Amino acid sequence: MTRVAVVGGGLAGLAAALSCADAGADVVLLESRPRLGGATWSFTRQGRSYDNGQHVFLRCCTAYRSFLDRLGVDGHVHLQPRLDIPVLAGGGREGGRCRLRRTPGLPAPLHLAPSLARYRHVPLGQRVRMLPAVLALRSVDPRAAAADEETFGHWLAAHGQGERAVTALWDLITLPTVNLPAAEASLAMAAKVFRTGLLERSDAADLGWSDVPLGELHGDAAARALSDLGAEVRLRHAVAAVAPKANGITVHLASGKAIDADVVILAVPHDAVAALVPPGTVAHQDDLVDLGTSPIVNVSVVFDRTVTDDAVFAVIDSPLQWVFDHTGASGTDRGQVLVVSLSAATAELGRPSAELVSEAVGELRRLLPPAAHAEVVDAVVSRQRAATLRAAPRSGRLRPGPATSHPRIFLAGAWTDTGWPATMEGAVRSGTTAAAGALGAAGVSVRAPEEVSA
Ligand SMILES: Cc1cc2nc3c(=O)[nH]c(=O)nc-3n(C[C@H](O)[C@H](O)[C@H](O)COP(=O)(O)OP(=O)(O)OC[C@H]3O[C@@H](n4cnc5c(N)ncnc54)[C@H](O)[C@@H]3O)c2cc1C
Repeated sequence: MTRVAVVGGGLAGLAAALSCADAGADVVLLESRPRLGGATWSFTRQGRSYDNGQHVFLRCCTAYRSFLDRLGVDGHVHLQPRLDIPVLAGGGREGGRCRLRRTPGLPAPLHLAPSLARYRHVPLGQRVRMLPAVLALRSVDPRAAAADEETFGHWLAAHGQGERAVTALWDLITLPTVNLPAAEASLAMAAKVFRTGLLERSDAADLGWSDVPLGELHGDAAARALSDLGAEVRLRHAVAAVAPKANGITVHLASGKAIDADVVILAVPHDAVAALVPPGTVAHQDDLVDLGTSPIVNVSVVFDRTVTDDAVFAVIDSPLQWVFDHTGASGTDRGQVLVVSLSAATAELGRPSAELVSEAVGELRRLLPPAAHAEVVDAVVSRQRAATLRAAPRSGRLRPGPATSHPRIFLAGAWTDTGWPATMEGAVRSGTTAAAGALGAAGVSVRAPEEVSA
């Protein structure tokens, strides 16, 4: 039986391990931490469950949704029947509340036109100029080298998008998906997000999130599925090096022990790969660290009562960006847990928690009238310094595909060349693709993974 070693138990490694085990391979998954799930994990405080960061997906994330189906946890996520996001103006600014939502029955990109026409956060003159930009974006090829050279902000300016349109609309979507503002994001990644999410299929951007802690949704469910298939999961097993040998690979553990495998899939972060493989194994091996990282900070606030009926809303003219109701997933039966998710949060990383909480509470009280007199029962700040790679210009050319210069070593990870930003969808896609490559190299035939339809 083909022995596959998967290094890294994030979504990429889990998807790879599951694909290989489903194909009948003898799988060993090695994860340095004491848990599975990688960048998606949960913790408990005062009896409430929190995630390291709010995670959302879109209807077009078909590989991720298939992965949830395969784990049998698709019933534990909520997927909006129709994209519908309230957008509130904060900072004491007048302008109230608009909605970004699709109009059923209209084909993309017209499905957004009625909502954009009424989007008062952007002055009418600038709103009118959005349609030509939207149409032009449909012809930007995210795979073109030129799109990897330019910032999205530069492209937007060249297509008549004023500062207000960028802050009140374009950044609202670019920040949480690319984890950089338009001014810094590569045009290639932004074009991928807008084209696949908003411009090609009318239902593609319907928003989804977990109704249970992420640790349960991903790590626990994957551990069960792998165990059912007889795959071996070894936690607290850091890999120190992988060394090719005749007809196989030796995986050296940090503990000094070693494991033999026919093929290996490395599903570790981009800044960890180079140290594990012989020089010259991975394309741009010495430069992978230049992919950089972009942080995400979450501020969770527990109010003693329900302060909003919205499951999710976005905020402009405010230090807040997106806010999610995490009450159900937190397991609390009293009050409401709101999670403020701050992408590209470089500035927030170094700020004291008390300051971040006070700012978030102040803004939530200004935005949500019932919060004005609500008591804050608890608050937690989660800082994820290396949440994603930094999808700036020229990052695309550094992202390698699944194959390496060694026929038995494969790569997976949200940071690899999936065509997607560093997301759960990208991670799962990379895992199943690497698994297909690894199994092919070992002579195991595989069917292309079945995807749920968008
Ligand atoms: C706060 C936050 C919010 C996010 N929000 C979203 C969102 O809303 N939507 C979305 O789609 N994506 C989001 N993401 C991104 C998404 O979580 C990641 O892109 C994805 O989970 C990465 O999966 P991965 O398997 O590629 O990498 P990782 O999850 O980083 O997994 C790599 C694994 O390798 C292990 N490892 C490293 N070195 C070794 C070694 N030497 N030996 C053994 N194991 C090793 C690590 O411990 C880790 O478990 C967010 C990320 C964060 C942090």
